[in-house]
Amino acid sequence: MATLTDPAVIREVLTRHGFSFSKALGQNFLINPAVCPRMAALCGADETTGVLEIGPGVGVLTKELAQRAKKVVSVELDARLLPVLEETLQAFDNVTVVHGDILKVDLAALFAEHFPGLRVAVCANLPYYITSPVILRLLESGLPIDAVTVMVQKEVAARLCAKPGAKAAGALTVMADYYAEAETLFDVSRGSFYPAPQVDSAVIRLTVRPAPAGAAEDTAAFFRLVKAAFSQKRKTLVNAVSSALHCPKEAVADALLSCGLSPSVRAEALTTAQFCALLSALRERGVAV
Ligand code: SAM
Repeated sequence: MATLTDPAVIREVLTRHGFSFSKALGQNFLINPAVCPRMAALCGADETTGVLEIGPGVGVLTKELAQRAKKVVSVELDARLLPVLEETLQAFDNVTVVHGDILKVDLAALFAEHFPGLRVAVCANLPYYITSPVILRLLESGLPIDAVTVMVQKEVAARLCAKPGAKAAGALTVMADYYAEAETLFDVSRGSFYPAPQVDSAVIRLTVRPAPAGAAEDTAAFFRLVKAAFSQKRKTLVNAVSSALHCPKEAVADALLSCGLSPSVRAEALTTAQFCALLSALRERGVAV
């Protein structure tokens, strides 16, 4: 099979299968030959691990993963790509393509069926319209995922990899940091894709922590508090939280003081552990989060 990073080869295969690109499904396929081997090498795949891939496209990254991992499961939403993948991945007997939406598939059942007893790495060039929900769904799943190595839009990479407490931090930063340690691995220019998107990208790795950072006793409430705190970024945390959670400003200010924080602090100044402490302090003051 000819190289899948050659746009002429991609066009030939796809035309033969009557396929046309869908912008809505984020279909920008990798054509830079350096990227997929690098992602596959850095995602932690080896002969003892399973790899979950999201959106295999024509299978360019899937092939690299299949050469390294014990088992690869690739979830693809676009049914038109299934016969394409059957052709491009025919040399690999350790790859299963699952037709489905990664936001809806029963991940626990998928892991039980395909990865029994295996540690799993997630590796994907993500469709950008679902970046945040996919990452959160994987991290919240509690499944034996060691790391999530994904291509995302450059701005999202900066947000995810900002240290909580830094200016670029947002709700997504804190929610991801709760479960994993994020780092940017390398940048990828828009010219590395066919067709080229409007934005540049970066590959990031989220290494899942053995236990959540700060370990809030109620994760759902922790997430509600973080979202409330970042809901109005120009406001102070006191104002944002009191208006989002319909509670008195005095209670929020007092809770902040009890955590050693100023009542004029903004959400982006808090670390994940400080958000956990704030949640307990608010509850002690009778605030329903
Ligand atoms: N991995 C290929 C590559 O790197 O060239 C394709 C990546 S492309 C950016 C995103 C892929 O995700 C497409 O194949 C698209 O059809 C698929 N996709 C889009 N939404 C999806 C969803 N909700 N669940 C699973 N796959 C999805």
